[in-house]
Parts: sequence; structure tokens; C-alpha cells
Amino acid sequence: MLLKSSINDLKKVLKKENLLFQEEERYCYAQDSANLKDKSNLPDIVVFVESIEEVQKVMRYANTHNIPVVSRGAGTNTVGACTCTKGGIVLNFSKMNKILNFNPDDMTMRVEPGVILGDIKSLAESVGLFYPPDPSNFKVSTIGGSIAQSSGGAKSFKYGTTKDYILSLKVVMADGTLMRLGSGTIKDAVGYHLNQLIIGSEGTLAIVVEAELKLIPLPESNAMITAYFDSFEDATAGVNGIIRERIFPATIDFMDRNSITTVENFYPSDLKTDKECMLLIEVDGFEVSMDTQLERVKKALLSNKASDIVLLRDKEAMEAVWTARRASYGAAAKLAPDVVTDDIIVPRSALSKMVCGCKEICRKHNLQVCIVGHVGDGNVHPQIALNLDNDEEFKHLTDAKSEIYSLAISLGGTISAEHGIGIEKLSHVDKIIDEEVLNSMRKIKKLFDVGNILNPGKIFKM
Ligand SMILES: Cc1cc2nc3c(=O)[nH]c(=O)nc-3n(C[C@H](O)[C@H](O)[C@H](O)COP(=O)(O)OP(=O)(O)OC[C@H]3O[C@@H](n4cnc5c(N)ncnc54)[C@H](O)[C@@H]3O)c2cc1C
Repeated sequence: MLLKSSINDLKKVLKKENLLFQEEERYCYAQDSANLKDKSNLPDIVVFVESIEEVQKVMRYANTHNIPVVSRGAGTNTVGACTCTKGGIVLNFSKMNKILNFNPDDMTMRVEPGVILGDIKSLAESVGLFYPPDPSNFKVSTIGGSIAQSSGGAKSFKYGTTKDYILSLKVVMADGTLMRLGSGTIKDAVGYHLNQLIIGSEGTLAIVVEAELKLIPLPESNAMITAYFDSFEDATAGVNGIIRERIFPATIDFMDRNSITTVENFYPSDLKTDKECMLLIEVDGFEVSMDTQLERVKKALLSNKASDIVLLRDKEAMEAVWTARRASYGAAAKLAPDVVTDDIIVPRSALSKMVCGCKEICRKHNLQVCIVGHVGDGNVHPQIALNLDNDEEFKHLTDAKSEIYSLAISLGGTISAEHGIGIEKLSHVDKIIDEEVLNSMRKIKKLFDVGNILNPGKIFKM
């Protein structure tokens, strides 16, 4: 609990209108988009920062008085990464939301941490450039949160994730020191790449106050194919066939039968409900290559038992399919009072075993599950609908998750591909990271944040 005197001290150095300290104002910062049974603590104060200097002021104060500081973008992470385990200060970045520089010739953009991903994408696209990382909620999530979670999305198979598009970062350390990490050039072989250490560190090592992003040319055209399969094995074989045809699709997403049926029940979208799996394949590139790419994809699918293949060139029709795919989470949420999403990844060769194993585990625990994911990179998102207040169901969920993670690891995969660990998976981290490696991580954390004030209680136990 922050002392009243601390709140008064902060009031003296920051604008009063940028501080929230009433209980009802702080309440909405107690949670993020993770559906957790145990509700977290309220922060003691929320600070809307407007400049790097203000972030430094807050950090110097927090460091001197050993106060926890949790950075917050749009609060859309799904693992409790920006909840307040020990109260303290929440830094709200929504007022640091300026695009500081856009250089189309160098294909770079310099941004403040509160900029919304969708705004970065739109500005780049307006001059034929492309910022590929695309968590499916990119219209609301921020670049600061994306850097901290190393967000991915449907295009990661071809284009990589956030970590592949950061040229340099400005960060404020726990003691308030400002550092620039990385040179901003396309290549950089000087010293340790500390900026890469910050990416994915969930706000536990430093606070991102500025980022220089790498952009690439926007593909001239895109097109989509949808197809259905009687098994995930056939669907995976179909994807392998596409790659053997030397086609590198921008996305290869899937929906399982339960997710298709659930979407059709709540948001009818003309999907076929009698097949085990649907693939959504998007190809991009020059307009003149589209027909060839689509023909080759179709050929590979047909030779791997696909049915109901549909080729889509019309933007609206393609968007309608994506809307149905994105509706899967909302549809699953209508099955029960709560829905919990997960995020495991395995090599593509093990995808079928992972999906079937997930279904079997949920069936055994009497849990409803809708599964979607990205076939290209083997990323599986089970969406489990249940009542978290029902202790028996919650116990089954806990056991099922543990079994799902063990299965992913036994298949050569890991327990998070893009959502991160937060508090939600913290107790499972030692299943996949050896104790010596965890100890090295603890040493790094102590080096960066000796008082453990930056987003404490996340990723691993200290
Ligand atoms: C419907 C839905 C769909 C999603 N789809 C995807 C998807 O397809 N792919 C994917 O990868 N993710 C996905 N996510 C997860 C989410 O989009 C990402 O984690 C997101 O990028 C987080 O951004 P945010 O601004 O909401 O960050 P927040 O949730 O506010 O914060 C996330 C983390 O970043 C830290 N943080 C925030 N700002 C800073 C900063 N300036 N400096 C240091 N640390 C900071 C926080 O402390 C926290 O640890 C989805 C989430 C939802 C709700």
C-alpha cells in the first residue's frame, strides 16, 4: 500500500490531472484481458505519463522508495502481464502516443510506446510500406505492449514477430536512467543486443519509452483460399504440399470443427460445419503472380484430400472470412460465463498430434474447447469455455492446462508462442526452462532491476 505521503510527493512533481488515486478509478487497472480466477490487487496510483522525463521522475521516486511499477498499454494481454501483484504505480502510456518520425526512404518509423499498432500499419501502408506483426487485436493494442510481449499474429510464419522489426529502443531503467539500445541501422554488429533482451521481457527489465521500427515493402496484392479437411493430418499434409510447390503463404490459419460450429451458432458466416478442420490460406505478392500462386495452392490441397475449396480475390469476401475467424473467441465466450484462451506451439510436423491431444485432454476433463491457430508455425490456441467460479470446473481447467503444456513439450514445442507468461503460466515455466537457465535470468533481472520493482511477480519466481 502506497503511503499517502508518496501520493502527495507524486502530486508535486506530476500534473494532477494525470493521476488517478480514487478507488473506483484504480479498479479498472486491477485486471487485463487474462481471465484469471484470482483477482489481482488494485494499483495504489495510476500515472498518465506524457514524456520520457516524466517516466524518469516516476522511476527515480519509485526506486528510492521501493515501489512496484507496472507499465500498461491497452491492457489486452491474455496472461495477467500487467496486473498489480503488489499494488504500486501503474504507468499509463496512452498520452505518449505520437509517431515521432516516419522515413519512407529508410523504411523506418520512430514511435512513442502508446501508439496503437493499427495506426503504425495505416501510416506505413499509405506510402506502400508494411509493418507485419499483427496480433488480431492490432486495432487497439499498443507498440509498447507488443514489444514487451514480442507479439506475433497470423503473419508470423512468413514475416516473423515483433522482435524482427525493432531497430532500436529508448528505455528507462528501474533507477530512472535513460538508455538507447541498438543503432537504428538495418545491421548492427556492435556489442550485445540488449534491445532484443527487452523485447518479450514483459516490462520486467526496463520501460520502453521510444522505439524505432523497421518497415518492409507492402505486397502489391493478396488473395485467399479456404478449404476443408476430414483430419488435421490431411490439413498439415496439404500445407506441406503448398510449401513443396514453393509457395510461401502470408498466413495459414485453421479453425477446428467446434470453433466453426460455435461461430456458425452465434455469428453465422456460411462456414461448413461437417468437417474436422478449415484452413484459411492467404498468399501475397505481385498481382501477376496471384493466379499462379492460387493454382499451385489449389493443386497441393486437392492432392491432400481437401474439399470445398474456394478461391477469393474480392477484399470484402476475404475480410468476411477473417471476421468469422476472429469471431471464434467471442463465440466461445457465449458458451459459458468465462472463456480462457491459451497459446502453445509445436513443430508443424506435430501439429495434428497437438490438436488431437488437446481435444482428448479437454474431453477427459469435461471441458468445452474451440481450437484455432496458425498452421504455418504450429501455434495452437485452445479456447476453453467454463465457469471459473465452479471449483470443480476450475480444478479440471488447471489439470487440463498442465497436461496440455506437458504434451506440447513432449512434442518438441513450448508453452507460449506469442502471448507470454505473465502470472498465468508462471508456475509452469520450470517445465520448459532448466533451473540453471532460470538462475541466469534471475541474475539478469537483478542486474537491471536490483530492487525488483519493475512488474514484480511475472514470468518466473525470483
Ligand atoms: C482478442 C485478442 C486477440 C489477441 N490476438 C493476439 C495475436 O493474434 N497474437 C499475439 O501475439 N497476441 C495477441 N493478443 C495478445 C495481445 O494483443 C498482445 O499481448 C498485445 O500486443 C499487448 O499490447 P497491449 O498494448 O494491450 O499491452 P498490455 O496488455 O497493456 O501490456 C502487455 C505487457 O507489456 C508491458 N508493457 C506495456 N507497455 C510497456 C512499455 N512501454 N514498456 C515496457 N513494458 C510495457 C506490460 O507491463 C505487460 O507486461 C490478443 C489479445 C486479445 C485480447
